[in-house]
Amino acid sequence: MSPPASAAARDRLRIAIQKSGRLADPARSLLAACGLSWRESRDRLFCYGETLPVDLLLVRDDDIPGLIADGVCDLGVVGRNVLLEQDGDRRGNGRAPAFREWRALGFGGCRLSIAVPDAWQWQGPQDLSGKRIATSYPALLSQWLAQQGIDAQVVLLSGSVEIAPRLGQAEAICDLVSSGATLSANQLKAVQTLVESEAVLAGPVDKFDDVRGELADLLLRRLDGALRVRNSKLLMFQAPRDLLAELLPLLPDAEQPTVMRLDDGDDVALQALCHGAVTWQRLEELKRAGARGLMVLPVEGMLA
Ligand code: ATP
Ligand code: ZN
Repeated sequence: MSPPASAAARDRLRIAIQKSGRLADPARSLLAACGLSWRESRDRLFCYGETLPVDLLLVRDDDIPGLIADGVCDLGVVGRNVLLEQDGDRRGNGRAPAFREWRALGFGGCRLSIAVPDAWQWQGPQDLSGKRIATSYPALLSQWLAQQGIDAQVVLLSGSVEIAPRLGQAEAICDLVSSGATLSANQLKAVQTLVESEAVLAGPVDKFDDVRGELADLLLRRLDGALRVRNSKLLMFQAPRDLLAELLPLLPDAEQPTVMRLDDGDDVALQALCHGAVTWQRLEELKRAGARGLMVLPVEGMLA
């Protein structure tokens, strides 16, 4: 059950995901929600697809764009921040683009931001002129500095970027921020966003022209269905037909509901796919407006 040596003429699709880290579990559960399942190898680096010929390779997230560029993997789940940085690096070295974002996946959200010491009275990007900025994202930072016309020194660090100002290595940093807790623990504040990031499905620039193309299309269709219903609920209730005009606006971001007439008179049964939050408060409002037998169901899948 080890991966075949040759990347050429493959009739299986190979997807790289992070072996361990923030994106590992959500990537796997999203792919599992698309109906994929795997047999794992003993070294846990390669998972052989059972339900479909779609295998997983478990790697470091930073290796994923390169694996796609080299054709070792067909697709990958990686942060947009990593994908854009490596794309920027290739372009900066005069190399052709070798991967791109195929789908945004809605998890792993964070921002690549400039952060400065709390005491800094931030006026705007020009404040960075002549300063040293520590980062693990030199391509994206340099690109942004060039766009802004700012001359600053990029200090490349591979980790613990947030302590650089305290260590005197730099005056500012450019790093990933989600809650901002790490920044405040280091007396820093985010002042400027360079990239809004989330996990993405990455793939080659062009579509596959062999059997992997069909597999990728099938996967994308299922993925779109899974992404659409992930936070959606099916809401069902009964109500007098003449109250529908008041009830329908209360459905949270709902698609066109199905309304069925009940045998005994003027009541209807309604079901609606809601993409907005179906809160207790909303259910109580619906009940007050005349809905009965309210039921909220999770949605497992959807095919448009
Ligand atoms: P690996 O060992 O695979 O190289 P890593 O330490 O680079 O792991 P993680 O810290 O797991 O990776 O982060 C993976 C991705 O998670 C990031 O590239 C980014 O897209 C996303 N992410 C979301 N929130 C954050 C955050 N607060 N800090 C860092 N990354 C975040
Ligand atoms: Zn990494």
